[in-house]
Amino acid sequence: MPIIAVRELRKSYGHLEVLKGINLEIEAGEVVAIIGKSGSGKSTFLRCINGLETISDGTVEVAGEYLDYNEAQLRKLRLKVGMIFQQFNLFPHLSAGRNVMLAQKVVRGTRASEAEAIARQMLAKVGLAEKFEAMPGELSGGQQQRVAIARALAMHPVALLCDEITSALDPELVSEVLAVVKGLAKTGMTLAMVTHEMRFAREVCNRVAFMHQGKVHEIGPPEEIFANPQTPELRQFLGAA
Ligand code: ADP
Ligand code: MG
Repeated sequence: MPIIAVRELRKSYGHLEVLKGINLEIEAGEVVAIIGKSGSGKSTFLRCINGLETISDGTVEVAGEYLDYNEAQLRKLRLKVGMIFQQFNLFPHLSAGRNVMLAQKVVRGTRASEAEAIARQMLAKVGLAEKFEAMPGELSGGQQQRVAIARALAMHPVALLCDEITSALDPELVSEVLAVVKGLAKTGMTLAMVTHEMRFAREVCNRVAFMHQGKVHEIGPPEEIFANPQTPELRQFLGAA
């Protein structure tokens, strides 16, 4: 059974149809890169999967449960699927550890002592065991993004969605974040990742989905997508990338 199953997904904003019938299944432990031009609908697609957007048509199924249109169910879905953004969105007045503890306490009602234990464990997982007390302002962009990853992991998501999580980083900080993602992939985390890092997609991902004008235009294993693109649109995208 796939962890994420998207069928004929459509999403419109007013008269603008942004997603035009997307079909994609992601198996447990699979790592899928999503590539494509700006405006092709990549972020909207991820936002639909974790219930940050209502959908206009089609179905989204996560861990065997269909996404509904009511708020309570969308909230539940957001708990199951972690999402990490280009901007880290850490609370600047809270330490790294407190940032990782917060959602657990507020959303799940986890006891402070347990939330702290989980936060320490997750910070260690992203290589920041020593930074529990550090304030976001004292951390590099790469470290802040790793805290954001730890925060998502602390919720024990069934899958993790990453939306250009290295795009705001200085080039020398990209690799430390990608190394963490690669580590998660190795431990079997299910990942869908919008990225411009083609080398990473090639090395780490099981499949690459190329989005174009609101559709999955081509999908396949990285060696096929990169070495043997079938459509002029993908050829042009790869040529420009
Ligand atoms: P990508 O992530 O591939 O750059 P997006 O999913 O952000 O693409 O956007 C796809 C299209 O949807 C764009 O034309 C964008 O302007 C439009 N769009 C995205 N979010 C909204 C919104 N909240 N309201 C109206 N239009 C939106
Ligand atoms: Mg985007």
